[in-house]
Amino acid sequence: MRDSSCIFCKIAGGEIPSATIYEDEKFRVILDLGPASKGHALILPKEHFANIYELDEETAAAAFVLAKKMAGKMTEALGCDGFNIVQNNGTVAGQTVFHFHIHLIPRYEGDGVALGWKPGELTEEQKEDILARLQ
Ligand code: 5GP
Ligand code: ZN
Repeated sequence: MRDSSCIFCKIAGGEIPSATIYEDEKFRVILDLGPASKGHALILPKEHFANIYELDEETAAAAFVLAKKMAGKMTEALGCDGFNIVQNNGTVAGQTVFHFHIHLIPRYEGDGVALGWKPGELTEEQKEDILARLQ
């Protein structure tokens, strides 16, 4: 299903032109308009899912297989030195377009791209609380 108000639905469906580097029945991979690095691309499912919570398992699996293939192909073609796969869900996590997508970010020595976080501390109390909730 597509969402008529969603820009990534329009791009994935070909209604809005994009710099497409890969396309099949289920996905389109496009260059990001505001790239973190040379070759930064986005995997867009053609079906609309707002985020990972809405995504079905089959599409989730296929999206990650495609991410793996694209990482290899892009690394070879662009000569990057490493690769980040990033996927944001929710405003608090940095999501700005609410159509599920995977960022493919080639990394180059000295590129200065900042995706990191300051390591915190896993306290005993927190650890016990999390284990009690999730195990
Ligand atoms: P998010 O912040 O939701 O994880 O990522 C959204 C990404 O989409 C951003 O990196 C942004 O640069 C990119 N973007 C937003 N609008 C467009 C667009 O119309 N075309 C393309 N190619 N990229 C877009
Ligand atoms: Zn959409």
